[in-house]
Amino acid sequence: MTKHKTIRLKPKSGRRAKAGAPWIFSNEIDMTPDTKALPPGTLVNVAGDDRVLGTGYFNPKSLIGVRLLDAEKDAPIGKAFFAARLGRARALREALYDKPYYRLVHAEGDGLPGLTIDRFDDVCVAQVTTAGMEALIEPMLEALDEVLSPRAVVLRNDAPSRALEGLDNYVRAGRGEIPSRIAIEENGARYFGDLAGGQKTGWYYDQREHRAFMAGLAKGRSVLDAYCYAGGFAVLAAKNGAKETVGIDSSQSALSLAEEAAAANKAACSFLKADVFEELERLIVAKQTFDIVIADPPPFVKARKDLEPGARAYRKLARLAASVTAKNGFVFLASCSHNIPMDRFADECALGILRTGRKASLIRQGGAGGDHPVHPMLPETAYLKALVYALD
Ligand code: SAH
Repeated sequence: MTKHKTIRLKPKSGRRAKAGAPWIFSNEIDMTPDTKALPPGTLVNVAGDDRVLGTGYFNPKSLIGVRLLDAEKDAPIGKAFFAARLGRARALREALYDKPYYRLVHAEGDGLPGLTIDRFDDVCVAQVTTAGMEALIEPMLEALDEVLSPRAVVLRNDAPSRALEGLDNYVRAGRGEIPSRIAIEENGARYFGDLAGGQKTGWYYDQREHRAFMAGLAKGRSVLDAYCYAGGFAVLAAKNGAKETVGIDSSQSALSLAEEAAAANKAACSFLKADVFEELERLIVAKQTFDIVIADPPPFVKARKDLEPGARAYRKLARLAASVTAKNGFVFLASCSHNIPMDRFADECALGILRTGRKASLIRQGGAGGDHPVHPMLPETAYLKALVYALD
C-alpha cells in the first residue's frame, strides 16, 4: 500500500479546499521544518482540522502549496490513476466532438492539475506547469499510450509559469518524433499548426465555437480578423461566403500557416503582416470599414499588477475595432487573460465602443468550449471571455 507523508493545514484554514477546491495555498499550511524540507513535487496526504482532504502534490516554493489529485489519502498516483483520468477526459470530448481534434486535458478541470494536452488526431502536445506533474510525466505518458496510442507526444514544457515552480524550460519528444507540421480539422475546415516553433501548443482550440458563430454571420459580409494567427476565424468566415476577408498578425510564421489553410479550404483571404493597433489607426484615417471586425489579441493582463494598463488596452482596442466597423456591422472582442474578470472586460469593451458615438447591443457572451472544462470550485480558471456586439 502506498504511503505518503502527511502535511497539516493550520487550524481552521483551507476553507476553499474543504469545500471541494483542489488548491491549498502555502499560507494555509503548517510549514514545519520537515514539511518545508520536502522536495518540490512530493506526493502528500493533506490533513485538515478533523479530516484528511486527500492526496496531492506539494511544492514548498509555490504560492499554491498543494494541488489535490484525489479525495482519498495514500492514493497511488501512477499509470492506473492517469489512465482513469485520461479515459474520462477522452469520453467527455467524444461526447462533444466527432473528430479527434480537441483539448484532451484541461488541468484542474479534468482532475489533472498542472497538465494540459491538446490532441491532433494521433499527435498529442502536452504542457506541464508544476513540479508535481513534472515528476509524474512517465506514468502519464504510459497511460496516454494505453488510452490513445499516439504516434507522437510533444512535451511543450516552455510555459513562462514553470519558473514559479522552479522548473527549467524545454521542448522534447516524449514519444515518437516531433512532426514539423500538424493538420487540424475544426468546424469542417482544415488548418495547420507548427509544433516546434509555433505558439503555445500549436492551435487555439478554445475559440472553436466562436469561430463557428462568427462564420455564421459572415456570408456576403466583409471580415477583418485582427490577430489572426493561423487563420482560425478568417479562413472559416471566407469558407462560409464572406465577400472579402483580411487577416492581420505580426508574426510571419503565423501568417504562412494562415495562407496555407486558406489555400487548403479554397477560401479567398488576404493576409497582412502588421501591428494591429497601427493598422487600425491607418484604416480609420483611410476611412476603410469592414462589416465584421474580430479582435482576439494576446493577453494584455499577464499578471495582476498589469490590470489597469491592460484594461486600458482592451478599451482602446474596442474603440479602434468599432471605429472600423461598418454601419450595422458586428464586433467580436476577446480576452484570454485570466487576470481580468468578465464584468471588467465587458465594461472596458462597452466604454471603448461607446466612445465612438455608436450604439451597440451585446448579442453573445461566451467562454472556451466544452473541451476546456472549468473546475466548479475554481471559477478563475475560466480564462477566456468573448463578446459579440451588433453596432448601429
Ligand atoms: N485569433 C487566433 C488566435 C490569436 S493569438 C485564432 O483564432 O487562432 C494572438 C496572435 O496575436 C498571435 O498570433 C500573435 O502573433 C499576434 N500578435 C501579438 N501581438 C500583435 C500585434 N501587436 N499586432 C498583430 N498581431 C499580434
